[in-house]
Parts: sequence; structure tokens; C-alpha cells
Amino acid sequence: MTSVLWQELTAEELRSKAAGDALVVLPVASMEQHGPHLAVGVDTVLCGAVCKLAAEKARDREIVVAPTLWCGMAEHHMAFGGTFTFDIPTYRAVLLALLKSIERHGFHRVVIVNGHGGNIAALTAFLPDFARETTLRVTATTYFMLARDGMAPFMEDQTGVQHACEVETSMMLAIAPDLVRGDRLPEAFGLADSDPVAAMDPNVNRYSTFRDRTETGVIGDARRASAGKGRDFIEASAEALAALLRDGGGLR
Ligand SMILES: [Zn+2]
Repeated sequence: MTSVLWQELTAEELRSKAAGDALVVLPVASMEQHGPHLAVGVDTVLCGAVCKLAAEKARDREIVVAPTLWCGMAEHHMAFGGTFTFDIPTYRAVLLALLKSIERHGFHRVVIVNGHGGNIAALTAFLPDFARETTLRVTATTYFMLARDGMAPFMEDQTGVQHACEVETSMMLAIAPDLVRGDRLPEAFGLADSDPVAAMDPNVNRYSTFRDRTETGVIGDARRASAGKGRDFIEASAEALAALLRDGGGLR
């Protein structure tokens, strides 16, 4: 069966995908610290994997998954090291360059699938620019928000997806166990009751870094992460995204 991945197709195959009005999935992620126990590539690894699996589930539709943008908005993680970040004008320019490339090959529809919390505000803010500056129809979603209800039943120690947490660590144990330092798991927690930002009025916006919020770089509790839970989180994420893709990416 042919791959759903852009990088594994030939230019001719991609021209024919465009002629068939395929939906383009553009995964966008990050490269940032993920506590003492996870490699910095977590968001890029997980977002790409979920997009690939979702596109395979929705194979009855013409879908192609572009390469994952591995850098995003991660200023709030810089103090821990290991992190790359864009600033807003650069991120906007890079995304526009990718979208314009997609547009020039004759595609019309793009779903940006985000895998990093720090990108959400920027992506939402860019949508009017993408509408004005391209002819593409573009939607943006964050896979773990889309799959929130589907993932919730499998969480034992958290009520939602946090950072380098039960969910992300379990998913990594399921698909890239070599990138998890199992001997550091006992340190892999940062609890909300010690997070000063979580205690603040949510109606007052203030920039805070992860350094202000957690000693370990973790928010949540990864100590009981497991590959089994990870497989359930990945399946729930891919199912939720596949439903969106079957629905045309939320584009009518
Ligand atoms: Zn992450």
C-alpha cells in the first residue's frame, strides 16, 4: 500500500494527489525539554505518529501528511536547555512559506495538526493571515485537545494532558521506548499544588516560564506511565483525528 507520508512519495505521485484534491495534513510540533526522563523530541515524535496513524485510518479519503515542523514556540522552556524556539514573526513566516509551497502544487485544503501547547495561541492568531495571504482553506487543531474525551478514561493520575506527564511518557513508552530514561521516572513529576501559576486568577494573563512553575520540567505525574496506557492514548488520539479527517478536516 502506498505511504500516506509526503516524504515517502515521488513528486509525480504528489502531483496526482493534488489533482485528486487531497487533504494535506501539516503536523507542527516542537523541540523542547521534557523533564529528566524524556528526550526533547517528544512533541515531534508523537505528533507525527498520531498524524500518520490517523491518515491511515482515514484511507478511504485522499490524504497526505506533510513532514512535521519540528520547531515551534517554546520560549517558556528555554531555561532548562535542550530547547529551540521561534519568535512570532519567524514562526508566522515559516508556516506561510510551507503553506504557499503546498498551495503552489495545486492543493486546496490544509489541516494544521499541532502537538505542542505553546503553539496554540500563535496558530489561532495566524488563521486570518493564512486566509488573507493564501487561497488555501486552512483549519488548525491540537490533537490532544481534540482527543481529550477519548483519552480521559485511560488516565490514572491526571485529569488532562500536561507536560512530560503520565500521557506523554506513556505514549513515548508505547512508540519510542528508547527515548525514555526509565531510571529517572521516580523524579518525573511536578504537581499542580506546588505550581504558583496554577493558583493565579485565570482571567489575568501573565507570562511565566516552566522554570517558575516546576523544578523538574514536568507538570503532571509520569511515575506510573506505561506502554499499555500509551497505546490507549495513541489509539484515542488517532481515532479523534481520523474522524476529523474523514469529515474533510472541518472544512466544508
Ligand atoms: Zn510535550
